[in-house]
Amino acid sequence: MKKILIVEDEAPMLQGLKDNLEYESYAVDTASDGETGQEMVLNGKYDLILLDVMLPNISGFDICRNARKANISTPIILLTAKGEEIDKVLGLELGADDYITKPFSLRELLARIKAVLRRAPSREQEEDQVISLGRLSLNFKRYEAFEKDKPVKLSHKEFEIIRYLYKHADESVDRDDLMSKVWGIEYDITTRTVDNFILKLRQKIELDPNNPKVILTVHGLGYKLVL
Ligand code: CA
Repeated sequence: MKKILIVEDEAPMLQGLKDNLEYESYAVDTASDGETGQEMVLNGKYDLILLDVMLPNISGFDICRNARKANISTPIILLTAKGEEIDKVLGLELGADDYITKPFSLRELLARIKAVLRRAPSREQEEDQVISLGRLSLNFKRYEAFEKDKPVKLSHKEFEIIRYLYKHADESVDRDDLMSKVWGIEYDITTRTVDNFILKLRQKIELDPNNPKVILTVHGLGYKLVL
């Protein structure tokens, strides 16, 4: 069964699309804001993504651009409203596969979905995708890291930290958030521990660890991974 993610903030539209696609025998997941949508897109578990352009938090354009920067090649069909600049979609190398302008007919949408799916490689081929961050190529599924062709050793916790930051790419991530998500609340660690892990990660990832471009410090809060 092909798996489709719909990112759309208008509830009736989202529900209508979900019902119709499920009726057509697709498995459907949904997100109704940009932040959740981006996280799900970057998980890379879908055969196709229907992505609304105007979304709360992060726009569909940005999600699309970030996904491609992160080497997520899941086909994306943008849902645009009349009057939105389509030139942008096609001109700014966002990497969308197609777009459809609201209001559209279900029949037209299904035809686009089928056409895009026909052209795309299957999800199984994508599962072991490698993403590049700074000097490293990372495979989160296999817990592998390489610099050029040389394996680089990252601890399990280092992988978990970078994976969490990556899922929240371009967002500021609170230190406390990182601690509870990576270590769990039962561990007695301090923000200092988090900072030390980040220092070690920067040594491995950044071209110049003293001038980080991938894992940025957000003063008074935490960190932000930039794709
Ligand atoms: Ca919208």
